[in-house]
Amino acid sequence: MIGEQLKRVLIVEDDTDIATAVSIGLRGKGHEVAVATSGRQMNEVLAETEVDVIFLDLGLPDVDGLELITQVRQWSAVPIVVISARHDSQGKIAALDAGADDYVTKPFSLGEVLARLRAIERRAGSGSESSVLRTADGRVVIDLAAHVLHVEGTQVHLTPIEWNMLAVFAKHKGALVDARTLLTEVWGPEYVGERGYLRVYMSQLRQKLEVDPAQPQYLHTQMGMGYRFTP
Ligand code: CA
Repeated sequence: MIGEQLKRVLIVEDDTDIATAVSIGLRGKGHEVAVATSGRQMNEVLAETEVDVIFLDLGLPDVDGLELITQVRQWSAVPIVVISARHDSQGKIAALDAGADDYVTKPFSLGEVLARLRAIERRAGSGSESSVLRTADGRVVIDLAAHVLHVEGTQVHLTPIEWNMLAVFAKHKGALVDARTLLTEVWGPEYVGERGYLRVYMSQLRQKLEVDPAQPQYLHTQMGMGYRFTP
């Protein structure tokens, strides 16, 4: 299964050293790889070819990467992994908000790229477990199977990672969920050290679910221990 679902990879990166190294590595693992070095080229490739996943550099010469994510999300749910500069944490967060699914930070190894692909494949294959969960105050209604979230009657979009986090929280409703469990179940065991991911995505989930993200009612941080979901 691994390597089949996400066989066709599009790399959008104007740094040709990076694009070449990644494409050689991925071809060696049996992927079909297309490379675009600008936003315009990316759109040309997407118009002609179906791809299973896009690795997208945020710093392209012609079009802003965030703009490209927004454009793609208007017509496709294809997984997008952002390639971001080391110090651009705002860019990463903006990209995730715009609909990107994950990110890698330069410089990155082929191993990291492959790990992202495995994580996306796992999430795609993890399927649905249970039904509708409603917070005690009725504000938030979560349909885990259908991937539909309503907050105060309005449908709210969650990214695949946010859905997977919410699914883990739902499974452990009311219980302490430690960082290791979350990282392992959402991203995979090779991510257990990536505590920074949790801060980013917990913040996003709170923005979407809570009345006041600074004073969460549902998604609590247990300092030094993990998180607790009390719907
Ligand atoms: Ca660049």
